[in-house]
Amino acid sequence: MKCPKCGGRYIEDVTEKHEVTDDFITIQIDEIVRCEKCGYDITNQQLPRVIAKRDEDTLLIQVSQTHSRILSLRDNVMFPAMYTEALLVKGYWDDVEEEFDAKTLLDNARTNDF
Ligand SMILES: [Zn+2]
Repeated sequence: MKCPKCGGRYIEDVTEKHEVTDDFITIQIDEIVRCEKCGYDITNQQLPRVIAKRDEDTLLIQVSQTHSRILSLRDNVMFPAMYTEALLVKGYWDDVEEEFDAKTLLDNARTNDF
């Protein structure tokens, strides 16, 4: 994968977002892939997006450059984010042809984080 702007190499990077409220501080860490040379980050705007489906009820939704979540439409539950590669080798995923509003789907789903 090469940078569309300058042809540079992509490297994995981590961004930290701190959110401070009266009671607690949350730190959200996002893994991103950006260009080593110019810092151009190609796909963040396009996420989350549905990248595969297993049957009519199960979608694989990419949520960061490296991680995806499985979403069960039947139960409206999303599972913890894992490496996309690791999820793709498990199970039989089909390409998706239809358009999904992945953000809305995730916003409406319950989490099943452990
Ligand atoms: Zn670049």
